Amino acid sequence: MNDSTLSDAPTGTAGTGLEVSGLRVTYPGKPPVEAVAGVDLGVAPGQIVGLLGPSGCGKSTLLSAIVGVVEPDAGTVAWDGVDVTRTPIHQRGFGLVFQDGQLFPHRTVAGNVGFGLDMAGVAREERDERISELLDVVGLAGYGAREITELSGGQRQRVAVARSLAPRPRLLLLDEPLSALDSELRGRLAADLGEILRRFSMTAVMVTHDPREAELVCDRVVRMRDGVLL
Ligand code: ADP
Ligand code: MG
Repeated sequence: MNDSTLSDAPTGTAGTGLEVSGLRVTYPGKPPVEAVAGVDLGVAPGQIVGLLGPSGCGKSTLLSAIVGVVEPDAGTVAWDGVDVTRTPIHQRGFGLVFQDGQLFPHRTVAGNVGFGLDMAGVAREERDERISELLDVVGLAGYGAREITELSGGQRQRVAVARSLAPRPRLLLLDEPLSALDSELRGRLAADLGEILRRFSMTAVMVTHDPREAELVCDRVVRMRDGVLL
């Protein structure tokens, strides 16, 4: 088989995954805050890395810089050897899941899961198929027509995960996706989340402050403090 038909990546650099090098992010202010102070992080394809650290140490800022929501003042973000540091957010193919889901309240469950597919102009039949596949995977088969306001907190986070996976991102970044849930539910959903990410062979970075959760979901854990990885 000819490998070049399987990937758009330049020969010799395919399959290296995420590579963050010397990344720095400073928020302006008096004094300015260097939230990310020189981070190097590699995540191999299919690997799920947990990012643990105290509040304010720069975890969300690091994810935001990787996904492209904030601009770093130094360093690079690369995928499969291609520098994407200046690539617009929607062209990176990276997905983001927030702590509070940030679902669209005026769309149904299916409308939320299909959002990225609608943006990409995916045909109706393929879109609907993908939505039901994902609702099935996250344990919400048959919930497509429900309103977001009719769901529990755990169900909402399941919808958020399904929505982020729908456009087939090459990297998924999860910022404390289970932190808003109560402890028992969190344990159950953590196990499910690990299973879902593995089923899609997702490459992922998940922020958490719960070591047990990191253990349930992640292959590897890195610790962050004061803007740097320990
Ligand atoms: P974490 O996610 O680990 O709690 P953050 O990345 O949110 O940490 O924040 C890291 C540091 O950057 C903190 O000191 C925080 O106060 C500061 N910070 C975060 N967002 C902003 C912002 N938009 N403007 C200014 N400072 C910010
Ligand atoms: Mg945070």
